[in-house]
Amino acid sequence: MIELEEPHPTAFDPVLAGDLVRFPYVQPKYHDYPELKAALESLAEAHPAMTILSSLGKTEEGRDMLALRLGRPSSEPRPEVLLIGGLHGNEVVGNELLLGLARYLLATYATEARSRKVLDQLSIVIVPSANPDGTARRWRSNGKGIDLNRDFLDPRRTRPREAFRALESRNIARLAEKRRFLLSAVFHGGEIVVNYPWDHRPNTTSLRPEDAEVLRRLSLRYAGRNEDMAHNPRFPGGVTSGYEWYQIRGGLQDYFYGWYGSLNLTIEVSRTKWPVPAELPRHWELNCEALLDFLEQARVGVALQVLGAEGTPLEATVRLPGTRSPLQTAPHDGAYFRLLPGGWHHATIEAPGYRTTLVPLFSTSHPGHILQIVSPKPVE
Ligand SMILES: [Zn+2]
Repeated sequence: MIELEEPHPTAFDPVLAGDLVRFPYVQPKYHDYPELKAALESLAEAHPAMTILSSLGKTEEGRDMLALRLGRPSSEPRPEVLLIGGLHGNEVVGNELLLGLARYLLATYATEARSRKVLDQLSIVIVPSANPDGTARRWRSNGKGIDLNRDFLDPRRTRPREAFRALESRNIARLAEKRRFLLSAVFHGGEIVVNYPWDHRPNTTSLRPEDAEVLRRLSLRYAGRNEDMAHNPRFPGGVTSGYEWYQIRGGLQDYFYGWYGSLNLTIEVSRTKWPVPAELPRHWELNCEALLDFLEQARVGVALQVLGAEGTPLEATVRLPGTRSPLQTAPHDGAYFRLLPGGWHHATIEAPGYRTTLVPLFSTSHPGHILQIVSPKPVE
């Protein structure tokens, strides 16, 4: 029997480059751990200027949690987006979608304006398989039987002793601490719906009001671009807040949003958790436009960089009037990105050793940031 060879990213046919759907970025086949590793290595090798392949750390059974960073290197700060698949080991459609997305963006960088803008202007981290031990066992939990989506610390520190028992969630938390992901999404299966924070408590009084609208809008945009989701009779518009659907504690979504302000969506992409491989290309067709649009939304809003004496990046606190919780700039580049309604806003910037500074901020309403650089005066 002749096995069909996997299309190599450099052997991409430019005639098909304009076609987001038809070219088999997602094939009717699942990648086990060695195959996923080989596929990511081959992408990184073929596109060395645009990728960094690394490990977030080891799993309980010693596998690497592979992360592919995508984006053209730049000296300017970039909004960061994190996409995670397979947190539940037996919900694997997202794993293949994320690998397909990486293939698509890299293969069409030269020919597709949308791919080029996304890779030129964003830093995207893709973790296609966040629970490879669970996937190898075809079960939900990690290798030690811990449900990773119950293993994060809730913003109200409910059940702190039950958080971060697994290496996998600690590895993800370390990444969240180090970077500032403007947008993040985690892919699951079992339903077809976009679920936004909170999962652990009702939204009515506790979300930052300026974020409530943005989270819902991002969810509606994604679901509206996925035919099956948009018409899911169980969820109007294909979206729900997590708590309205069912309450969970220790979820990844509330951890990212609650502790770091990252606008995080839980995206359920298939009713069947592990459908037959023949269905995978259809899932790509349903999700590819929604995925690309989600990335493009990270290019909307406010872009700020706070620099201290001699132009060094400052880890500063940025407060918006009327908001409940301030957010920090990213420690490595002093950058702050935020999705806010289009137009002018004001923010207060505080950093130890510097005068508190009030600055006007311009928020764009369409993809395309205007980077504003602010240098607060040192306290004399
Ligand atoms: Zn799940």
